Amino acid sequence: MASDGYRSLQEIQKKIFDFGKFTIEAHFNPGRIISSSAKVDSKSISDRPCFLCPKNLPPEQKALKIVGEYILLVNPFPIFDKHFTIPVVTHRPQLIYKEIESMLDISFMLGSKYSVFYNGPKCGASAPDHLHFQAGNFGYMKIDSEYESIVNSFGQTIQSNEKCRTISVTGCLRNFLSIESNDKKEIIKEFYKIYDVLMKDEDEPLLNIICRYDEKWRLMIFPRTKHRPSHFFEEGEGKYLISPAAVDLGGVLIFPREEDFKRINKELITDIFKQVTFSDDEFNKIINRLNDKK
Ligand SMILES: [Zn+2]
Repeated sequence: MASDGYRSLQEIQKKIFDFGKFTIEAHFNPGRIISSSAKVDSKSISDRPCFLCPKNLPPEQKALKIVGEYILLVNPFPIFDKHFTIPVVTHRPQLIYKEIESMLDISFMLGSKYSVFYNGPKCGASAPDHLHFQAGNFGYMKIDSEYESIVNSFGQTIQSNEKCRTISVTGCLRNFLSIESNDKKEIIKEFYKIYDVLMKDEDEPLLNIICRYDEKWRLMIFPRTKHRPSHFFEEGEGKYLISPAAVDLGGVLIFPREEDFKRINKELITDIFKQVTFSDDEFNKIINRLNDKK
């Protein structure tokens, strides 16, 4: 399964879209059809055997114990050349609140060669019932290499002290927040402020998170308004099978159907991001609420 998956990566077709100070890539990756079209309603989830529970893993699947209850597995349906799934060994829901420290620890352990990411239960996780992170080789997502220039062009420091800096980034299609620090406690404290401001009447705010450790952590938080854009639900011409998650917000949009990939253009990319993330106005209100908290 895994060798088929990794072999198929060599045939991936790519298109690069230049947005001036940043780029977005579109990938045609038929191997991701199951993940992108996954039914994640509670009935479909409870009717299927959980593919992250140790008892349901393929017998060939080996695991490395890494942090606490977390194990590192090869992802047999890869997006990255090196793609890991990092679940806990017990079956419990995908919720970040108590796990943010583990995410930082995993990122620290994997080091600068990997980005670790989290997809919220309603933001692209195909196993919303089983707590997990993923990791992929650093440099694959556009945001990995463009982060500094994006922050320089679009970022605004909204909090800083000698230990920690929080930045809001507006105007690069998907508005996001980033916390930079080598002090784990500081980063967690800042993360909770953001989490609280985003929290509504739900299990957790809609979000994706991308983390990397290279002498310090940088934790990018992408608040979301929606799970899937309208294109996902259209019939006929208007349909595009796309279900944005952390990798897409990281600048690599994954299209599992060739007919969608062929038609992709800048307007469509802009519309997809616009639908699933906060507008500049709404995002600025979030920043204001964050500033009020200080
Ligand atoms: Zn499970």
